[in-house]
Amino acid sequence: MQIIEIYKSLQGESSFAGLPCVFVRLAICNLRCSWCDSEYTFKGGKKMSADEVETEVRRLAPDGGLVEFTGGEPMLHEREILPLMERLISKRYTVLLETSGERPLEKVPFLVHKIVDVKCPGSGEAGTFRNENLYTLTDRDELKFVLADRADYEFARDFVEKNMTGREIGNIIFSPAFRKDANGARSAEHCLLDPQQLAEWILADNLPVRLGLQIHKFIWQPQVKGI
Ligand code: SF4
Repeated sequence: MQIIEIYKSLQGESSFAGLPCVFVRLAICNLRCSWCDSEYTFKGGKKMSADEVETEVRRLAPDGGLVEFTGGEPMLHEREILPLMERLISKRYTVLLETSGERPLEKVPFLVHKIVDVKCPGSGEAGTFRNENLYTLTDRDELKFVLADRADYEFARDFVEKNMTGREIGNIIFSPAFRKDANGARSAEHCLLDPQQLAEWILADNLPVRLGLQIHKFIWQPQVKGI
């Protein structure tokens, strides 16, 4: 598989936010989100075998813990990563998969926590989410919507109301998009959508969702890689 980087940091998003986590960042993405902060994954990287990736994960976190497969789009490496996920789970790691949900997810091992980033109009990639993937979601999984403006919020709200009522899922997260050109002070002013505004919309509509901030962008400089 083609690996951009493997590193240990704090998990910045999802209900696991704040916990130490090893990130396995894979190369290549088939989408081009307007606010993407991982464009450096679109090409390059280093070919590594599953054994080599596992060795590096165990070096960084010998006692288990969280491991997230991210990218790029990790499901473009499905053939290699799915068996590796099974191996890591059998060795008591908690495995997360960050994916856009554009690729089929039914073969992802049952115990993996899927964090599925449904693209909204502001990303330029709305409509890429594969609706059949809704049937693969369990109470271990999370749906994430990264929002740039009111139109994105309404898209996400309508998606939740139409598709998620009565469905068992771990969490639904609405998260303000970060500016691609953000640098300097680590503050909410770098968000494309003001978190306070988003909080007020969520409360006004009484939505059963969690507001998520990308906390790594507030801890480290927004443009730093390997965080
Ligand atoms: S899916 Fe992720 S890696 Fe791919 S373009 Fe969108 S934000 Fe970037």
